[in-house]
Amino acid sequence: MLKVILEGHDNFYGLADIVRLFYGPCREDRENGCLVCDQGPDETIVINADPSAELPLNRQVKRDLYVRLKDLSGMSFPWGCLTGIRPTAVAREEDYDYRGLVSKYLVREDKAKLACQTGKLESRIEQEASGRLNIYAGVPFCPGRCEYCSFIAQDAIRHMGKLHEYAGALCLEADMLAPFIKEAPGTIYMGGGTPTVFDEDDFGRVIECLSRSFRAGPQTEFTVEAGRPDTITEGKLDAMRSCGVNRICINPQTMNDATLRRINRGHTSADIISAYELARRKGFDVINMDIIAGLKYETAKDFTDSVRTAAGLDPENITIHTLYKKRRAGMSREDVLNAGGRGDIDKAVSEAYEYLNALGYVPYYMYRQKDTELGLENVGFCKPGTYNRYNVAMMSYTADVLSAGAGGMSKRAFRDGRYERCGNVKDISAYIKQARECAEKKIAFFELGSYS
Ligand code: SF4
Repeated sequence: MLKVILEGHDNFYGLADIVRLFYGPCREDRENGCLVCDQGPDETIVINADPSAELPLNRQVKRDLYVRLKDLSGMSFPWGCLTGIRPTAVAREEDYDYRGLVSKYLVREDKAKLACQTGKLESRIEQEASGRLNIYAGVPFCPGRCEYCSFIAQDAIRHMGKLHEYAGALCLEADMLAPFIKEAPGTIYMGGGTPTVFDEDDFGRVIECLSRSFRAGPQTEFTVEAGRPDTITEGKLDAMRSCGVNRICINPQTMNDATLRRINRGHTSADIISAYELARRKGFDVINMDIIAGLKYETAKDFTDSVRTAAGLDPENITIHTLYKKRRAGMSREDVLNAGGRGDIDKAVSEAYEYLNALGYVPYYMYRQKDTELGLENVGFCKPGTYNRYNVAMMSYTADVLSAGAGGMSKRAFRDGRYERCGNVKDISAYIKQARECAEKKIAFFELGSYS
């Protein structure tokens, strides 16, 4: 059992992140001023505050613990002692000089360079996205649950019978907001779940309502996550085109048929290719494809094969995710230590980036989640000029995002650097009943007249 004693500070949260990286979950014992990790080695480590250190206190103690555990375990991690979700924000603090990330936070050189390269473009996009309203419409339903998914709740599968009512509630919320939206927003993003899960009638009704209510204009970046190819039809693609949708996501996650079956995706790689080709024929000229590294049952080679096959279709955007191992997704730490092994996934992800770079893709946004394999990151790549502003806006502290739909989290950025959040009710049945109140709350939250 590993015990970490905190002396002269109370950064339990930050130190727990470091312990988790090495040994898995730990618990706080505030009474005795320590963290306890049952899976760790039988050691007691004291981490002191050092007022003379170069780093701010919270970061200094994390770095000290990282170094101690690295020595103890012989393990090191690509992002060193950086555990936050936005390494690009730290790169910005370092003026995009990768050496600062390497020396202060012990980040591996390739990751430090990636954060600096991505951060520079991300910062330009963030400026474009700020000052215009960004809108999110959420559809937290899917035709089934992918085995690895930690986002969609079982509830959403049970609630499939409520899709029609949900479409009505989402339209009600959008209609109520409509009089306050006086000019085309910068971006609209219809995400999920799988928004194309609606039948053609309901999908057509919702997309028309969102486009009209939120004043989608020719300059509006309008994305729909058409995630699973088995939900994409010609009728839905036509509805999107006629309502101003100019970017769609067709997300294979893997192009390996055996894996697709085992993770309960309910479609084949041939279905992905057919949906992609249909979308192209319908005139969509910005298509995103998501691929996941570290899926259960897959080797590192399966992952790189998927990246190569997806890139072979020539989509404008490719997003590489590393599997997020939230416990409720039913996968243990061992589950994801697949045949390829930890080092191989790390190497395969780096090779995939190099491959995409060689094809002309550039990284434009990045974020990390807790509990990914080796603390690896998620990175959005784009062909020049095809980046997605919404993806950057939703992570930034300077762009407003108005969110409609169950669980939608709106955020408002103020000129003095503050930002506030306002959430819609998460439960689907409650949202269907309370869509009106959700809209009223947001009208007050955003003082929506200020956008006129
Ligand atoms: S399509 Fe996406 S949101 Fe839906 S179950 Fe699969 S991973 Fe989860």
